[in-house]
Amino acid sequence: MNIKAHTDLSRLCVHTITTKPWDIATAARHYAAAGIKGITVWRDALEGRDIRQTGNMLREEGLSIVSLCRGGFFPAKEKAKRKLAIDDNRKAIEEAVALGAPLIVLVCGADPGQSLEDSRQQIRDGIAAVLDDASAAGVKLAIEPLHPMYADTRSAINTLAQANDMAEALRSPLVGVAVDVYHLWWDPALEQEIARCGENSHLFAFHICDWKSPTTDMLLDRGLMGEGCIPIRKIRSWVEATGFSGFNEVEIFSIKYWQEDQSAFLEKIVTAYREHA
Ligand code: ZN
Repeated sequence: MNIKAHTDLSRLCVHTITTKPWDIATAARHYAAAGIKGITVWRDALEGRDIRQTGNMLREEGLSIVSLCRGGFFPAKEKAKRKLAIDDNRKAIEEAVALGAPLIVLVCGADPGQSLEDSRQQIRDGIAAVLDDASAAGVKLAIEPLHPMYADTRSAINTLAQANDMAEALRSPLVGVAVDVYHLWWDPALEQEIARCGENSHLFAFHICDWKSPTTDMLLDRGLMGEGCIPIRKIRSWVEATGFSGFNEVEIFSIKYWQEDQSAFLEKIVTAYREHA
């Protein structure tokens, strides 16, 4: 295969979960030293820290804070649990403000004890319930459709068409979608649905990694770009055709890579990004 490497790292972002063994200060220092310009912060990385100071520390390292991961998990059969989820999303909005993150990614949730339709309605109601808070805070919300293998407990929104439908139904400039190649690469409607995001100006985030074949763990065996079967550059070209000029965010959950030396892993990420993304 003739793959042309590119040298521009100005739109490379890494999710803190990708280098999970590092605390956020260590991650920030290494990302900046590697020439990475963006960071998406997972909430577990903020536990026990002063969030405002952490945001300042990241900016001092020269990193743009791309988003906070993650809100969502709205559906539950029991009303009390749905209320807890809404409270937690309000808390996530406060954390995003303190951190200085302009966007929260929503892993929307699902409850296997009820229908997907019911879960979807509760997702819509949940987002609607926190919209005023998001609006007051100036924080955007991105609905991230997840691969259908996660439809039981992680997300009842599994295609970009469903995410687009919901974003359009909520009619707010603060609500958009996150396109993650891992979840969506298989969808025959992907190109047209990405174009639809562009028409509505609600493509808020773009996540990359690769689908290993075989995949040995449904959650924790994501591959480096180029290691699997996702046509990442093709999908990126569809994303950029919409006018999207945000970051390409590397989000890899991998037991294998978390066991490796994280500095060496970060070098692999940069090389894989240059060659395959
Ligand atoms: Zn993602």
